[in-house]
Amino acid sequence: MANFETVEVSTDLLILGGGFSACGAATEAAYWAKKNGLKVTLVDKAAMDRSGAVAMGPSAINQYVGVRDGENTVEDYVRYVRQDLMGISREDLVYNIARHVDSTVHLFEKWGLKIWTDEEGKYVHEGRWQLMINGESYKIIIAEAAKNAIADAGGELIERVFITDPLMDGNKCVGAVGFSTREEKFYVFKAKAVIVGLGGAVHVFRPRSVGEGFGRSWYPPFNSGSSAYMTLKAGAEMTCQEVRFIPVRFKDAYGPVGAWFLLFQSRATSAEGGEYMVVREDELKNWAPYGLAKPIPANLRNYLGMLDTDAGLGPLYMETDEAIQKLAEKYKDDEKAFKKKMKELESEAWEDFLDMTISQAILWASMNVYPEQKHSEIAACEPYFIGSHSGASGAWVSGPEDLDTPYKWGYENMTTVEAMFAVGDASGASSHKFSSGSHTEGRIAGKAAIKYILEKGAKPNVDMAQAEELKKKVLAPLDLFEEHKDEFTDPEVNTHYIMPRQFLHRLQKIMDEYAGGVTAAFKTSKSNLERGLELMDFLKEDSDKMAARDLHELMRVWENIQRMWIAESHIRTMLFREETRWPGYYFRSDTPKMDEENWKCFANCRYNPETGEWEMFKKDIWNIPGV
Ligand SMILES: Cc1cc2nc3c(=O)[nH]c(=O)nc-3n(C[C@H](O)[C@H](O)[C@H](O)COP(=O)(O)OP(=O)(O)OC[C@H]3O[C@@H](n4cnc5c(N)ncnc54)[C@H](O)[C@@H]3O)c2cc1C
Repeated sequence: MANFETVEVSTDLLILGGGFSACGAATEAAYWAKKNGLKVTLVDKAAMDRSGAVAMGPSAINQYVGVRDGENTVEDYVRYVRQDLMGISREDLVYNIARHVDSTVHLFEKWGLKIWTDEEGKYVHEGRWQLMINGESYKIIIAEAAKNAIADAGGELIERVFITDPLMDGNKCVGAVGFSTREEKFYVFKAKAVIVGLGGAVHVFRPRSVGEGFGRSWYPPFNSGSSAYMTLKAGAEMTCQEVRFIPVRFKDAYGPVGAWFLLFQSRATSAEGGEYMVVREDELKNWAPYGLAKPIPANLRNYLGMLDTDAGLGPLYMETDEAIQKLAEKYKDDEKAFKKKMKELESEAWEDFLDMTISQAILWASMNVYPEQKHSEIAACEPYFIGSHSGASGAWVSGPEDLDTPYKWGYENMTTVEAMFAVGDASGASSHKFSSGSHTEGRIAGKAAIKYILEKGAKPNVDMAQAEELKKKVLAPLDLFEEHKDEFTDPEVNTHYIMPRQFLHRLQKIMDEYAGGVTAAFKTSKSNLERGLELMDFLKEDSDKMAARDLHELMRVWENIQRMWIAESHIRTMLFREETRWPGYYFRSDTPKMDEENWKCFANCRYNPETGEWEMFKKDIWNIPGV
């Protein structure tokens, strides 16, 4: 076996991940840990300053309720999320986050984040819930606060360690294992409570960008389904695993469209010039009541565009030139003012990409695009799993103590596995948390986890034989490569093993063709999903044949295995839900309508680690009374 040193780390609270939710968890937990003499340890596969989905820095904070200024109420936010998710949301969780999120945003500002203000000192909104920021250092600022809090409480931050598996003591999580992506070290973390904040998943589906731009995607490449894998493997109940997210973005470089729709009030049209949101308005009646209420859910907006594409009316375009001209129009009688306004709008258009998706600016530049002169192509991206954004997949977690709901069995944000908490993309059915809401949920869970440790946290009973077994399994791809690499002339072509990239292509092909990816025009059916599961079985059989040349490839192996698990839970849950509820995310051609009577419920699943069987079941929706 590869000769890696085993490093044991004992802690009270173990936070897995270093993104927005984990930073929130660390900041809050460290405060309570310090008061009670407890240790907090945070582990990230990358460097926390720039890790996670918005490492590059976005241009807006997407969740701010604005209670202080009487802009909205917390109940307004609950209604908004319910509407966008076609009635399927854990309103207790959404409510809990929404009532605390403003205070999180105020903390961000205190820590140094520049939130735009107008002449009266009020926050500048991009849309109803979004605040404009100077976001290029957003993640660094949030990470700095978390680092300071951990250091102040005598905790530990461990970067560049990839977490592979949970450590279990029956139905209780007692830690996790992982390996360093820089040194030959295998880590065994022992903890009284564990918070999973390992983000969502990208590259489960074949991306539009293959070959020439392989790896390019809307969701940055860092997150590979580790959250879902950890909770599934621990035996936790999951929810909404069928609810993937498909954003419509500028084509090929995945540039954001939010500023165009919200700030520039731009229209999206087919190649023939029809505005699909207007031309196809009647279709929305088929998805009532959600199709007829405002704002129109993101998936339905996607769907209307997809209908145009299916009808051969594509490509679709963002009418950037028209939007800019319209905004500058009122200055048209004053040539100097008009020129100044045009310059300002033009620079805002480029800035929107430069601070968040630089590659889109590069693509525009290389294709001689002048947004003020010519429209630009947009398209629906391949599917992603991001329960904190507009998807909803994640673990089924215990809700807030003070609401009278059927969803309480433990401490806030604890999964159905004892001592294991889930936050951000790791916790399901509470979409539209975004960066600020994920941080807020982390804070809620951080406080709850410390409470759990104080009230129930016993010394973790870690079976080192289990850890040793895991070490063997985790490092096996290195051994496999070493053993057989010289038997063939090309190290990548070998009858004894496959390389992680080859495995990834196979997974993506299954998902793309059978589970409603781009090639299948986001459509699937019972027969397709069943065939996908059959192929997935063969893929699983081959998963222990992946080989790795070095630490980087070892990480690729484990990323793929984690992706395979979220993929399977996705297929199984789409198969279980016998209706089409989010037609712009996926369309089940054999059950093409929404069925409010039978399927206005959560579709939950659980992998049973004892039997290796999957359990699928429905859970009732609970609405906040009067909301
Ligand atoms: C393209 C894009 C644009 C967005 N734009 C905005 C925006 O404009 N405004 C906004 O408010 N929100 C935005 N969001 C949403 C926001 O990024 C997420 O809601 C938020 O990051 C979720 O927090 P998280 O902690 O769950 O995941 P992340 O912040 O993604 O953090 C995941 C963490 O887990 C670590 N990790 C992953 N796997 C492992 C492993 N196996 N072992 C160890 N560590 C691991 C990662 O390194 C990372 O630190 C955007 C998201 C995307 C993808």
